[in-house]
Amino acid sequence: METAEPMTTESDTAFKITRKTDITPAAEREAMLANPGFGRVFTDHMAVVTYTEGKGWHSAEILPRQPLMLDPAASVLHYAQEIFEGMKAYRTPDGSVQLFRPDANARRFRHSAERMAMAQVPEDLFLDAVTQLVKLDKDWVPKPEVGTLYIRPFMIATEAALGVKPASEFKFIVIACAAGEYFSKDAGPVSVWVEERTVRASRGGTGTAKCGGNYAASLTAQMEGKEHGCHQVLFLDAQERRWLEEMGGMNVMMVFEDGTLQTPPLDSGTILHGITRDSLLTLARDRGLKVKEERYAIDQLYGDADSGKLKEVFACGTAAVVTPIGTFKSTEGGCTIGNGQTGEVTSSLRKALCDIQFGRAADPHGWVKKIG
Ligand SMILES: *Cc1c(COP(=O)(O)O)cnc(C)c1O
Repeated sequence: METAEPMTTESDTAFKITRKTDITPAAEREAMLANPGFGRVFTDHMAVVTYTEGKGWHSAEILPRQPLMLDPAASVLHYAQEIFEGMKAYRTPDGSVQLFRPDANARRFRHSAERMAMAQVPEDLFLDAVTQLVKLDKDWVPKPEVGTLYIRPFMIATEAALGVKPASEFKFIVIACAAGEYFSKDAGPVSVWVEERTVRASRGGTGTAKCGGNYAASLTAQMEGKEHGCHQVLFLDAQERRWLEEMGGMNVMMVFEDGTLQTPPLDSGTILHGITRDSLLTLARDRGLKVKEERYAIDQLYGDADSGKLKEVFACGTAAVVTPIGTFKSTEGGCTIGNGQTGEVTSSLRKALCDIQFGRAADPHGWVKKIG
């Protein structure tokens, strides 16, 4: 469907800031930030912008974080018109705060909105909401030794109407939480369940949109994986159940004996265009590694793991950054990758990326955006 650019004037979307009067005291905040885990320790504020058909985006606000008031007939609750983004704010050695490729998140959010027949959030408005919220809640960005501030922009259809149609009212909201390590570092590489029963996305489906529905559909596989002692799930293509696609929320990469880095291509329209994926491919090319975006079959993976041709496999995404995979399990057995430990290419790519994100290394591609 064609979603025309809404008419939005500057004054409509200038953020009105209402500070929380009883903000979390510094000592309490520091205690919460010492070991935040993931997705539990939220900042004091949130950004909310409303869209109404015919009026465009309006009533931009930063206000104390609070529950939403929704009509029980709001279409998000029935037909899952919902999309989201995941990005991070990093504390640099000089104590300032920066974002990593936020423009890429803004662009992908537009793509997701288009696929789900939702209003388009202009990229400037997206970036403004994120920047203003992080500025106001800057003290919640953990020390780099501890972690990052995870930012969750999302959009929901709020129109109260049970008829099946694209909604005419939306809310664009940004919340943020402190994030420690997504997977415990001490635990070493993760184990992955190869899902043969269900699929994450199919051609023509919503695989390239970052929508909640994709995640809901991946949860039974995650449960099944957990029953088999696995941390994560690998999804295969819907047609042949043979080609590696991605994990539930991370892209997947392989490193071969000859140093080649390979990842499944995006042309199937079923794999999410990960910003971490793209950044790692760029960094690998910068280092002169051979990079292949080619499909790879699960039976090839088992064979290459056994022969020793496949040296390393890792998952990548904003939340978990680069996560080494030590073993694959499936109904038929599985395999161990390398010696089951974190590989050299995996750790050096991870370090190169994190050094740029945290401002410890030069940023030759202009990826970081300082926000104060
Ligand atoms: C968000 C996401 C990723 C990773 O994308 P990044 O931009 O690297 O965070 C990968 N797969 C899925 C399904 C996702 O939702």
